[in-house]
Amino acid sequence: MTTKEQTAMFDVIVIGAGFAGLTAARDQHDAGRSVLVLEARDRIGGRTHYDYLDGLDQKVEYGGTWVVPKYQHHVAREVERYGLEYTTSPAGENFAWHFNGATTVGGFPIPMDEIPQLEQAVSRIVEASRRIQWGVPFEEQGLEDLDIPFSQWLQDNEIEGTTLEFFKSYGAGLCFGTYPENISALHVISWVTGCGNSAWNVFNGPTIKLAKGTASLYDAMAKDLDIRLSSPVTHIEQGSDSVTVTVAGGQSFAARAAVVAVPLNTWANIEFSPALCEGKQQFTAERLAGRDVKIWVHTRNAPRHFASLGWDAPLEWLSTEFEREEGSIMVGFGINEELIDPTDPGSVARAVKTVVPEADVVNSWSEDWNGSPYSLGTWTAFRPGQITRLAADSRRTEGRLVFANADVAVEFSGWIDGAIESGTRAATPLAEILG
Ligand SMILES: Cc1cc2nc3c(=O)[nH]c(=O)nc-3n(C[C@H](O)[C@H](O)[C@H](O)COP(=O)(O)OP(=O)(O)OC[C@H]3O[C@@H](n4cnc5c(N)ncnc54)[C@H](O)[C@@H]3O)c2cc1C
Repeated sequence: MTTKEQTAMFDVIVIGAGFAGLTAARDQHDAGRSVLVLEARDRIGGRTHYDYLDGLDQKVEYGGTWVVPKYQHHVAREVERYGLEYTTSPAGENFAWHFNGATTVGGFPIPMDEIPQLEQAVSRIVEASRRIQWGVPFEEQGLEDLDIPFSQWLQDNEIEGTTLEFFKSYGAGLCFGTYPENISALHVISWVTGCGNSAWNVFNGPTIKLAKGTASLYDAMAKDLDIRLSSPVTHIEQGSDSVTVTVAGGQSFAARAAVVAVPLNTWANIEFSPALCEGKQQFTAERLAGRDVKIWVHTRNAPRHFASLGWDAPLEWLSTEFEREEGSIMVGFGINEELIDPTDPGSVARAVKTVVPEADVVNSWSEDWNGSPYSLGTWTAFRPGQITRLAADSRRTEGRLVFANADVAVEFSGWIDGAIESGTRAATPLAEILG
């Protein structure tokens, strides 16, 4: 039983204060609408979180970090609007690679005799990327033949050897937080399209980040908004001319329209009345595939500005983000939760020593995105076939409910840019509903 303790009728209730929800709420507020934002966590920012490493005078990004402003126009526009500045992650100086079960050091991950194989793989992926029209929903473009497991696409294109491991590691593991069997080749290739039909831009592009962290952007967007923290929404009920939104504890709020800006994986945790369309129910039941572990590690005795990439290693990626007097602060990404347990110091030390044996681990930190009921995973990774079968339904407005998040973006789904894009797009259906 819920009690309607709040009798005011808002124009719009926005559920979720990540970049999608904040963009939609800020735009509605600026348009003169009355807006209430309900956020489950005790902070805003969602899957971005810029904060201190416990015990160290160092702020880091626990979630989303890098942007590609040259191609990601939505985030670039917002950064410019608030007069924020970018900085870059340091370039690697000492490299290690973990392919074919062994760690090697040196400047280039692919052996010289395999360069023709790499060239062929890159040209195939760029060729496929040119089939995708940017800005048009992928499911409308007759690209079903690419909506297959990335592993299948690699096999069909006869990509082998270290090049195969490199693409599994970077293309699936690092870029999508999952295995090549679990990610649609169409989603992988679309990033190449979005980054100017250049595989190099995808590999080298994401080094730019906000100088004062993602918090400088999400705080700026949230400045004038009425946001209720620690308010997880449990029910959303649509009537003929209003929406009633109920939070844990039973308090409910009414509005003429609502923006559901929570991650797609978490739709299943909210009771919708009437029920969501079958496609949305199917999608949230299947879930997206991204389940990465992002970990921060304080090490001593590591080579200066270290960077590594690997496959079948506990961490696909490990690199130095800050060199300090106390040692190196490194950031790592790993998809195999059996090989990397961020809560177990022994597991973290083994993971680091796999690629940099001389390093001693002093401490480590991580946020549990996969375990949190408010994210249930990391960032968007469409399973094979999901784009073709379910993407159109996922972004469809239902009555007075508009859906926004990085998972339903048309362009850079899974990125901060995609979240902002979807929040921006929410204005059109809201105008139709609100008149
Ligand atoms: C580890 C990691 C690394 C990443 N790296 C990058 C990167 O380098 N570059 C990049 O561009 N992107 C990156 N991303 C992805 C990027 O952070 C996300 O795509 C983007 O921030 C998602 O924004 P969103 O608004 O769609 O969703 P979210 O940020 O998840 O916001 C949804 C909000 O809804 C809230 N919520 C959930 N359930 C409820 C409920 N029932 N009631 C009320 N509120 C609820 C959540 O608490 C959250 O605040 C990364 C993500 C992770 C996790």
